[in-house]
Amino acid sequence: MRLDHFMAAANARYYATHDPFRDFTTAPEIAQAFGEVLGLWAAVMWEAMGRPSPLLLAELGPGRGTLMADAIRATAQAAPAFHAACAIHLVEASPRLRAEQASRVPGAVWHDAASTLPTGPVILLANEFLDALPIRQFVRRGQAWRERFVKHGRFAEHPSDFASPDAPDGAVIERNDAARALIAHLAARIAAHGGAALFLDYGPERSAPGDSLQALRAGRPADPLATPGESDLTTHVDFSALAEAATAASSGVTVWGPIPQGPFLVRLGLYQRTGRLARGQPPARAAALIQAAQRLTEPDRMGRLFKVLCLAHSSLPCPPGFEP
Ligand code: SAH
Repeated sequence: MRLDHFMAAANARYYATHDPFRDFTTAPEIAQAFGEVLGLWAAVMWEAMGRPSPLLLAELGPGRGTLMADAIRATAQAAPAFHAACAIHLVEASPRLRAEQASRVPGAVWHDAASTLPTGPVILLANEFLDALPIRQFVRRGQAWRERFVKHGRFAEHPSDFASPDAPDGAVIERNDAARALIAHLAARIAAHGGAALFLDYGPERSAPGDSLQALRAGRPADPLATPGESDLTTHVDFSALAEAATAASSGVTVWGPIPQGPFLVRLGLYQRTGRLARGQPPARAAALIQAAQRLTEPDRMGRLFKVLCLAHSSLPCPPGFEP
């Protein structure tokens, strides 16, 4: 089975049958201020868009629904006109996670894929979604490239007409066709109907060869091929390839970033919001809130490995957090 087909089937089964948050945690689960400042980011973008109503506020792969719940709660108080304009649409494949999302985000509409989101102005958020999408891998063997398939729990290499600039023998190049197609689709719809999409995920700033496929099983690193459906499979996101896919799809969108998550969240006021939440709390609780913000922003924690990429309609000014 080709690696991307293997990965798609394995992840679909994993997300349908497991509680992924027993295996890993994510920024919205670490700090409520994360979803809150992203909600305010969306409200500022909506103002710049000329306050369209209704606005499609969409999220890809919402997990437990925590990010969206925090974003909506924050904007109900701080940006009531924005809040009133929002129609919430969630793209989620797992029935089990849909049920969790429904308990935190009542009134949302669910979709299997971004392609069925209704047309119209959109603000779309996606945290740790792209890393779960299936990839293909090509290996340099002498003068040719071979493609990786999965056979009986191991890699098998098949002939391929993949062509790539020179790379050392044995080098692995990953190609995320699913993520590229998604980004191209979103770029075209944003150019046509207005809006912006914000992606937060881990990956390098520039494309580089390397095998980044990894698995977490019961919270521990595992063999990605050994137990399909029992472990969470992810890869590093190739942001430069995605930025190129967006630009190639439409001249009507501007690509902002990728920039590291740490400075982005600091500019959005993560620490101001955390300070507000910590005020009047017992010292241990206040310290835990500040430590959570540090975990998301410090360069040796999630602040540098995680990147933020934004596609926005070309008429929009620089999105908050991307200022040079
Ligand atoms: N954004 C959440 C969850 C990240 S886990 C957070 O930050 O906590 C990845 C999420 O994407 C899960 O909700 C998973 O079910 C969903 N997902 C993964 N692949 C998908 C696909 N191909 N289509 C739709 N949803 C998918």
